Amino acid sequence: MKIIMLGAPGAGKGTQAIMIAEKYGIPHVSTGDIFRANIKNGTELGKEAKKYMDQGLLVPDELTVRILLDRVGQEDCRNGYVLDGFPRTIPQAEVLDQELGKLGDAIDVAIDVDVPDESIIKRMSGRRACLSCGATYHVEHVPPKKEGICDHCGQPLVLREDDKPETVRNRLKVYHDQTQPLIDYYDAKGILKVVDGTQEMNQVFEAIMKILEK
Ligand code: ADP
Ligand code: AMP
Repeated sequence: MKIIMLGAPGAGKGTQAIMIAEKYGIPHVSTGDIFRANIKNGTELGKEAKKYMDQGLLVPDELTVRILLDRVGQEDCRNGYVLDGFPRTIPQAEVLDQELGKLGDAIDVAIDVDVPDESIIKRMSGRRACLSCGATYHVEHVPPKKEGICDHCGQPLVLREDDKPETVRNRLKVYHDQTQPLIDYYDAKGILKVVDGTQEMNQVFEAIMKILEK
């Protein structure tokens, strides 16, 4: 199964994508996580991506598409994957469709996790991320068992550079301008499903399961 998670930054895409990936035993592919891992390791790709990420801007399509296609071409993605944070522009979606089409393949479903902007700003300031395994927490809504430590891998949790309110506002603007049009794009293909992302995290997951198990 090939699944795309859509939604504003902070809507809960990553949280749900990790749960879906675990349930179906398929990889969780997050372009944001790939960029952050490269920044942490000081690679050239990381240096280039950081210039955009720190300002809340999108990394250019060419670079992003290249790393995504490379990742989904790996052996573990053969039986499917959950894409989290990709595509974020119409050209990215078109390239993905073209590349899958060449293999006689296609995305099965695009799930839009719908959360209004007011809730997003609050969520982002409380988000804590594990840069090692990509898990995210929230100081109030989704706290780790031990404060400041990742439940999954035991590494320290951090407040992401780009989760500061000023940058979040930029990211929301970029989302509305460049990423929201993807909702119509997948709706026109007949594969869009919308879930109410303001519900408690397990309820959101239940709504997603109802869609995927149909
Ligand atoms: P995204 O991947 O869409 O940017 P995340 O999954 O990282 O978003 O979630 C953003 C923040 O909101 C995190 O701190 C996460 O723990 C928290 N969160 C996720 N789902 C919910 C929910 N249903 N209710 C409240 N907080 C949530
Ligand atoms: P995320 O972890 O998905 O919130 O992504 C964090 C940041 O990485 C974004 O604000 C962008 O700067 C960059 N990024 C992640 N995915 C993409 C993408 N598909 N296209 C362009 N930039 C991206």
